Amino acid sequence: MEPYVLLADQLPESALSLVYLVAAILFIQGLRDMTHPRTAVRGNLLSAGGMLLAVGITVLWFEILSPVVLIGGLVVGSLVGAFLAVKVQMTQMPQLVGVFNGFGGGASTVVAGAELLEISGGLPVDVGVAAVFSGIVGSVTFFGSMVAAGKLHGTIDSSAIRYKGEHAVKVLLLVVALIAGIYMVAQPGMVPALEADWVPSYWVLVLAASVLGIALVIPIGGADMPVVIALLNSYSGLAAAGTGFVIGNTALIIAGTLVGAAGAILTVIMCESMNRSLSNVLFGGWGEEAASSEEMDEIYEGNIKETSPVEVEMLLDTADRVVIVPGYGMAVAQAQHAVAELSELLAENDVEVEFGIHPVAGRMPGHMNVLLAEADVPYDRMKELEEINPTFKQTDVVIVTGANDVVNPLANTDDSSPIAGMPVLNVSDARTVIVNKRSLSPGFSGIPNPLFAEDNTSMLFGDGKETMQELVNEYKENH
Ligand code: NDP
Repeated sequence: MEPYVLLADQLPESALSLVYLVAAILFIQGLRDMTHPRTAVRGNLLSAGGMLLAVGITVLWFEILSPVVLIGGLVVGSLVGAFLAVKVQMTQMPQLVGVFNGFGGGASTVVAGAELLEISGGLPVDVGVAAVFSGIVGSVTFFGSMVAAGKLHGTIDSSAIRYKGEHAVKVLLLVVALIAGIYMVAQPGMVPALEADWVPSYWVLVLAASVLGIALVIPIGGADMPVVIALLNSYSGLAAAGTGFVIGNTALIIAGTLVGAAGAILTVIMCESMNRSLSNVLFGGWGEEAASSEEMDEIYEGNIKETSPVEVEMLLDTADRVVIVPGYGMAVAQAQHAVAELSELLAENDVEVEFGIHPVAGRMPGHMNVLLAEADVPYDRMKELEEINPTFKQTDVVIVTGANDVVNPLANTDDSSPIAGMPVLNVSDARTVIVNKRSLSPGFSGIPNPLFAEDNTSMLFGDGKETMQELVNEYKENH
């Protein structure tokens, strides 16, 4: 008995294709809108609308499940999604994205496997090849993402865990998965000894690829994990596209390919911003070494000047141009509203004020832009690295708040540094630099920062939010 009236019985096949086409257009327009903060919210809604349309038509067109199971799944999924969206902190977003990617990959593997159970009378080669692809990539994505998310969240040791022969282990696992895949798609006529029984072979392939996913991510250090998350995001899209071929669903093929391409582009952008090659990220094992205290002392001892909100306010009084450079610490302290208020006050008093945004400041791409936009900082005040760097020479005061690696001159001067070659914000070109953070502790890369010891730098120690608020209060009192 059919669970409900299917649209397939009422409408021509072309109606389904048309709705999938509209969904695809919405995905593409949505992605386009997401390239600018002003249109990003609309882009998100358009893409979500496209997905709703694609899921809706699929459910109404094909006989898939009983309505009770379907609605139950939707309700549970929506509740979990809404709970996570409200509960998870902005700084935990990379691991949440990691978990979502993992689920995408896992779902692709399971759906492709379920479809294989349905096929009788010989496995078509194209479906078999797509299922092998989806099974391997999806399983690697699920287990790789779970390890990556665990490392970012601190549930698993975040350092790079290396061992002898690790590359051989990975190659072996891939070979096992591929042999199972070949066995799966081999037709009995082609390989006479093999009576191709595809279902058990598929699960052998999934098992080998699952262990491979763990083996691939375990040797990567916590510092590289966000790049790995972007790469796994790309994989999750590719696995979905593979499953789209297995079940013959155009919308899944298009959506998966878009995610695959977007994830790949993001991976490249992040590698370039950190001046790292992808192979170096995947096989290099960076991020294990923290600076020793002797190293820190050598740079900082006797060279650190401290300042206070009162002194900084006096400095701002005489400034014509101020640049604010936010970093990860601003996100941790949730200082964006105080920082935005300070910039507004300065602008009201005819000070030219801009924000210098490094592409990898914070812990995810666009992290600073999102926070500042949330605090209503006008978009035209946020300048990217290439645009702001030449202006530091004409800047009176730079306020660095919660940033460290992205303003570390070692990137330009020390070839052996883990951030060597990473483009940084050259803040010390300005007349005076104020650095607000809680201590002299290193940032993400674990290395000291000679900027703190430079002649024109003063440290404004304290929590980002409290200190910026004190500065705002001080400024208000005097204007
Ligand atoms: P960093 O991680 O270099 O430094 C952040 C600083 O914030 C710390 O030194 C810390 O110092 C300070 N801080 C922490 N909490 C507070 C607080 N409550 N109030 C004030 N300060 C605080 O951050 P950056 O943004 O400069 O650099 C980002 C780093 O992350 C780069 O190395 C980048 O490569 C890496 N990365 C970024 C990704 C991205 O997509 N954005 C992805 C992958 C990696 P203290 O403890 O003394 O307060």
